[in-house]
Amino acid sequence: MSERWSSRVTRVLAPNPSPLTLEGTNTFVVAEPGAGTVVVIDPGPADDGHALAVVEACGGRGVELVLLTHTHVDHAEGARAFAGRVGAPLAAIAPGWASPGAPDLAAGDPVAAADHCCFQLAADRAVFTGDHVLGRGTTVVEWPGGDMADYLASLELLLDLRPERLYPGHGPLVPDAVARVEGYLAHRRDREAQVLAALAAGDRTPAEIVARVYAEVDLALHPAAELSVRAHLVKLAREGRVTSDPSGERFTLTGDAGRAEPPPAGARPPGA
Ligand SMILES: [Zn+2]
Repeated sequence: MSERWSSRVTRVLAPNPSPLTLEGTNTFVVAEPGAGTVVVIDPGPADDGHALAVVEACGGRGVELVLLTHTHVDHAEGARAFAGRVGAPLAAIAPGWASPGAPDLAAGDPVAAADHCCFQLAADRAVFTGDHVLGRGTTVVEWPGGDMADYLASLELLLDLRPERLYPGHGPLVPDAVARVEGYLAHRRDREAQVLAALAAGDRTPAEIVARVYAEVDLALHPAAELSVRAHLVKLAREGRVTSDPSGERFTLTGDAGRAEPPPAGARPPGA
């Protein structure tokens, strides 16, 4: 299913809906109006019908480059086959993915975290955000690949571009780009405060923290939420605000580790 998002951008929706991919992965065909060639971003899952729909959206124009925002299967599984099919180089920031002769994305693109990068389309005042910022809801920063500090820094970089619109890897076009990114930053700060509050309340393991912080969220999403909580804990540990035991499975607020349990009521000293 393809849809024009601007005079330069066509979105082709992949048939892989799920709680994490929303309606499915967005594959983009990008070209200046009147240009004879296009760039394809995130060919999506290995699905022949989808690949054909993307070729159709190219409208007979040659594909000069295939780009990956990142290498999760829902974006990249079909990428090599698609690039081969259309005879285009494949470029990605993740090592081992780019084909010979493809441009080196690591050199020029500042909006990158882990294996993820975003692509700016200055003519549309737009940024293709992959899984970095979604069309709806919030993204999952997964531990151990996802680093919450990197993620927050990359959102700040995205904000610095002052985009007007975002073309996300899942969900609809985001017309209020700056407000959405600011919302993501605020959401992450809230989550971090909730993780700290859960530790202060006595939770020790990521699962305990998830049970408290994500109590309102569908249980099917709790494993993903746990990876996100771990990403927060790694950031907080690096900042020295949280301490983990040697197993890396139990966490305390730094300074709380040696604190005694409160004494039983009967043992309370007079005047306490
Ligand atoms: Zn995705």
